[in-house]
Amino acid sequence: MKSFSVQNLLRDNIKNLVAYSSARSEFNGNASIFLDANENSIGSLVGGQYNRYPDPQQVQLKAELAKLKGVNPGQLFLGNGSDEAIDLLFRAFCNPSQDSVLYFPPTYGMYEIAARINNAVICEVPLDSNFQIDVQAAINEIQPSTKIIFICSPNNPTGNMIASERIEFLLNHFQGIVVVDEAYIDFSEKESWVSKLNQYPNLVVLQTLSKAWGLAGLRIGMAISSPEIIAVLNKIKYPYNISSAVQELAGKGIAQVAKKDEWIRELNKERELLISKLEQICFVKKVFPTDANFVLVRFLDADKVYEYLKETGIITRNRSGVLFCEDCLRITIGTSEENILLIKTLNNFQ
Ligand SMILES: *Cc1c(COP(=O)(O)O)cnc(C)c1O
Repeated sequence: MKSFSVQNLLRDNIKNLVAYSSARSEFNGNASIFLDANENSIGSLVGGQYNRYPDPQQVQLKAELAKLKGVNPGQLFLGNGSDEAIDLLFRAFCNPSQDSVLYFPPTYGMYEIAARINNAVICEVPLDSNFQIDVQAAINEIQPSTKIIFICSPNNPTGNMIASERIEFLLNHFQGIVVVDEAYIDFSEKESWVSKLNQYPNLVVLQTLSKAWGLAGLRIGMAISSPEIIAVLNKIKYPYNISSAVQELAGKGIAQVAKKDEWIRELNKERELLISKLEQICFVKKVFPTDANFVLVRFLDADKVYEYLKETGIITRNRSGVLFCEDCLRITIGTSEENILLIKTLNNFQ
């Protein structure tokens, strides 16, 4: 098997690309007069420094996040949500209508959407009956054209972690990019793959501020990987992809680690309580094990339950149409009051 090389894996047009050099990336010292970027010199209509372009490399925010994650800032890419990183990975590595991507349904829908937008060839290997990856089936599907494997752990919409031996097997036997999407890792007791980055040059971990950190509206997702892979994503991103307002607010958010940890403990406690209450409901067929801030629940008739809840003002995610999720709703863990109301409402269903 060929050994892993980012440069060999890259599309030629990306390898040969000379990145756009923005005014703010060409000058990064101290100055008092900025006449380099055609900004409005008079000021910002909303106060602050918003007449100025933001830091294209998000240096300060990355320094803080790198400390939190135990990596170097050069191992961090920040995007407008994790979805930006997913899209850029396709753009960097998959020649349209030629190179392929492998993922494991039922899983996060954006791998397929981003693949279709970028016209990558799609290869799907369904999860097994325990929602685990069938590694032998996966290996059998790998072609020379396979450039990226997406693994979601904890998996959305099923909630379970993918067994680490299976991920390890793929990391060892596939010489392309292995993405482990850890959007929900903060709700799990298990270890993040970030600690294994030094062992696996082909590993890209995706995390986000959208879930445990409570900052979905800011749109900050990150890719954590080798400096070589991160440099590629930085080279092809929009120059000013994270606004200054968002960089400032995200910095304030991630300074509150204790609060975030308290919320995680609270939500995880609520998760266990909600699961035990759901299991007592007679028209609930199965509550699937979860390491995330949601739970997949199989009902006798999910469409009916979904409509009933909707009419009472409670919106859940109907996953009935998704492979292996027949009659399943995905329910986010709410506040204590919301969960009590949900159970009360469900108990009044007939
Ligand atoms: C919510 C979620 C994300 C995060 O997306 P953002 O664009 O960062 O908000 C990523 N992956 C999965 C599987 C998710 O469920």
